Amino acid sequence: MATKQKLPFIPLTESQQSAFCRTDENLLVKPLAEEFSAVVSWQDIPEKYHHMPGEELSTRISLARQELGEKLVILGHHYQRDEIVQFADFRGDSLKLSQQAAGQEKAEFIVFCGVHFMAETADILSASHQQVILPNITAGCSMADMARTDDVLDCWDDIQQILGDEKIIPITYMNSTAAIKSLCGKNNGIVCTSSNAKAVFEWAFERGNKVIFFPDQHLGRNTGLKLNIPIDQMLVWNPFKPMGGHDDEKIRDARVILWQGHCSVHTRFNVRQIEKARSEHPDINIIVHPECTMDVVEASDLDGSTEFIIDKINNAPPGSKWAVGTEISLVNRLSQENPDKLIFCLDSIVCPCSTMYRTHPAYLLWSLEKLLEGEVINQITVDEETAKYAKLALDRMLHEI
Ligand code: SF4
Repeated sequence: MATKQKLPFIPLTESQQSAFCRTDENLLVKPLAEEFSAVVSWQDIPEKYHHMPGEELSTRISLARQELGEKLVILGHHYQRDEIVQFADFRGDSLKLSQQAAGQEKAEFIVFCGVHFMAETADILSASHQQVILPNITAGCSMADMARTDDVLDCWDDIQQILGDEKIIPITYMNSTAAIKSLCGKNNGIVCTSSNAKAVFEWAFERGNKVIFFPDQHLGRNTGLKLNIPIDQMLVWNPFKPMGGHDDEKIRDARVILWQGHCSVHTRFNVRQIEKARSEHPDINIIVHPECTMDVVEASDLDGSTEFIIDKINNAPPGSKWAVGTEISLVNRLSQENPDKLIFCLDSIVCPCSTMYRTHPAYLLWSLEKLLEGEVINQITVDEETAKYAKLALDRMLHEI
């Protein structure tokens, strides 16, 4: 049983989150060298790409794409910059993208313009002849980085010892490392997305008395509340305190144990922003992602996954008004694609997901030009044993929910 006090750890991805926040709503591409000047710890790439202007990058990416033809598939996550999304063969959330890529049998190279855990999932779900590439190897996810494998394994062991034979089902959000998905697979657990979290919790409660949820406490809490689990039966596991900061009795009494992680983008939204939007536009619809805090979700009109938000807004009547609590690149794109509606981000300071933002077009070009030279850079691979159990947890979600 772990008893030592650990030092708090702030992932680099979290501490650099505000590096690209703006007040002028201008997130247009600049040469890579200018973005490096924000003092970020991104992967370095050959000097010739540092000062290349946006137009040259775009032209060369188009040419490289053409030359690679069907051997290449480019995936662009919804939160990715427009300069990258324009080259994506598929645009979507992490699971949808991985499934689409795996279905492209002719594609030998899957260039995932997303973050590290997404590329791992694509590697797990893709065929053996397909290689997954993350153009900037430092594109992580601050939430996933908050659940370090050793800490999660310690927590799992501690809880097992306290609960004995009582059945606890581990659930991990898609936004987690392959190692944590694997732990869930090995221990009768499952993966969930923000679209199916409620159904996955129901699945788990049919098989156990308790659930432990990694790594986003907010999605876990919001889902527990949707299932009418009282808030005092959900406890937060702090990995920096012995036994997560709780005594044995509290752990035995809890129905849901929430890992102390969060998304640095979605926790920027607050109830004051919702009140302001409502006072300025009395007929506004407030729609937020369930990675937002409980009070924000409660104060909104609708909450749901990225795909849910896109679908609701795209299918809303002309003239409708939407204040959106999710990542700014997506909100800006929705606004451009729906000029007949008023769509704006709840937060007036423009903050992109800083880790998605690391996929500057220079990285995409570098990875494609390397492929043309016959070299695969930044390949993401998950070892066989980890992949086997992570796939089991993913398959439970794909086939049993
Ligand atoms: S938006 Fe949040 S959860 Fe999604 S990749 Fe960025 S930091 Fe991670």
